[in-house]
Amino acid sequence: MGIKMLWDTTAAPGLALPVARTVAAMVDMPVFVEENRLLLNGYDNDRKQYDARAILDRLFLQKRRLKTDDPLLLVVQHDLFDQGSDFVFGLARASAGTAVVSALRLDNRYYGRVESDPDLVERIAKESAHEIGHLEGLDHCADPECIMFPPRTLDELDRKRKVFCHPCRERLAGLRRRRIRAP
Ligand SMILES: [Zn+2]
Ligand SMILES: [Zn+2]
Repeated sequence: MGIKMLWDTTAAPGLALPVARTVAAMVDMPVFVEENRLLLNGYDNDRKQYDARAILDRLFLQKRRLKTDDPLLLVVQHDLFDQGSDFVFGLARASAGTAVVSALRLDNRYYGRVESDPDLVERIAKESAHEIGHLEGLDHCADPECIMFPPRTLDELDRKRKVFCHPCRERLAGLRRRRIRAP
């Protein structure tokens, strides 16, 4: 079991491997990177953004085509939205084992700040580990330093540490034990 990380060519060039390594350490699971070959759907002309749910629909079809049970996580550069929010950093659908993360609003340059690869690697990794947490069955956490805390701003994302808090870690271990025992 491992995470398949599909990396869109337009997203943070050269950072796929450092991100994958960081995520693997955070979720304690292998992460395999592949170049994304899926065309993105769900573009909303009025919002000039992509509907994250439409992308997850297509990702699920791709997962069936690949005949894999491993979770698929797509990293894109495109701006994502979900109903009820102006934007989302990422979105996961646990029932389908699929998740998408956008690097766009994780990049200093989006806010007119100085570009930094280490910042970007850390943020994409945190956001990816958060979505993987959902895929494994974790809900949001109220601890602002925990990976499962839902950040609404970049500062809130930066405040999080690259770890699950103790209760979330315990819950995750329990979920994994149950999965191993299931036939
Ligand atoms: Zn979340
Ligand atoms: Zn937590």
